[in-house]
Amino acid sequence: MSLNSIEEKLLAGKWIAGDRISDAIRVSRSFNDIGIKTIINYLGEEYRKKSDINSSVFEYLKLVKEIKRENVNADIAIKETQVGLLASKSEFLKNYKKIVDTASRSRLFVWLDMEEYEFVSDTIDVYLKFVEKANTGICIQSYLKRSQSDLKFLLKNHAVVRLVKGAHRVKGGDFYDNKGTDRNYFRLMDYLFKNGKTFTIASHDSRIIEKARRLNKKYKRNVTYAMLEGIRDSYAKELVNNGENVSMYVPFGPKWKEYAYRRMKEVGNLKLVIRSLIGG
Ligand SMILES: Cc1cc2nc3c(=O)[nH]c(=O)nc-3n(C[C@H](O)[C@H](O)[C@H](O)COP(=O)(O)OP(=O)(O)OC[C@H]3O[C@@H](n4cnc5c(N)ncnc54)[C@H](O)[C@@H]3O)c2cc1C
Repeated sequence: MSLNSIEEKLLAGKWIAGDRISDAIRVSRSFNDIGIKTIINYLGEEYRKKSDINSSVFEYLKLVKEIKRENVNADIAIKETQVGLLASKSEFLKNYKKIVDTASRSRLFVWLDMEEYEFVSDTIDVYLKFVEKANTGICIQSYLKRSQSDLKFLLKNHAVVRLVKGAHRVKGGDFYDNKGTDRNYFRLMDYLFKNGKTFTIASHDSRIIEKARRLNKKYKRNVTYAMLEGIRDSYAKELVNNGENVSMYVPFGPKWKEYAYRRMKEVGNLKLVIRSLIGG
């Protein structure tokens, strides 16, 4: 699918709160007003330069302060390569700790997003160093064959997990294709319901969400359903109206291109693009 820049900006505007922290706060407040918590992400990834890494960390520290000051109901989500993993694992660890400690003082929850497969081991490793803190969670992707054993290990170590299909998919022996990814999602979700207490089912796929709701009638876990801003907002609202906990991932910042392109690839057919634009 090729889109011109006006269409790109239209879509990006639907999926991204704006350039500034104040935009993310404004959008979060409007979701809070209808009973939806948000997960705010400052856009940016794959930084190697110290100056880029440091300014991301600085923006997150500012974001924590603003969420607290404005009293909005929001978690934050950070990416490992945004805060130092491509410089070194110790740089990532140092910056992650700084953000987690600051957020913890403000009682905010910090999600670690999951990027490409080559970062998974280091991301889990760093996450587990802080798992005893009550305010941290990690994302697991069902397109990865390794995720079954990662999930087992993480739950054994009391992790809080957010399950997704995976936005950085590649082909090959260690990865599932689309059908396999969906099947594995159901398998991992089953495991979460049987063995987890508090977790997040992050998807726009009604088959997944409705199955999770049925499972929760039996298991009665502390489940949150999470979606990305601008994809299926009215479905999210419907879930809240049916008594479910719902979070909305709200990205902001000027570095929107990589994120918007991933979303465009996912809504790779025109029907879904139009549905995203007019409401979903
Ligand atoms: C809160 C959250 C956090 C995430 N964090 C990460 C992360 O850290 N790392 C990562 O790799 N990925 C992350 N993702 C992205 C995720 O991995 C998927 O790429 C993305 O969610 C698309 O997968 P899906 O489960 O929605 O299923 P898809 O297979 O993309 O969509 C399933 C179905 O949903 C329906 N649908 C989709 N869009 C629409 C629409 N506009 N209108 C109506 N129906 C629609 C259609 O029926 C479609 O067939 C996150 C996603 C969410 C929601």
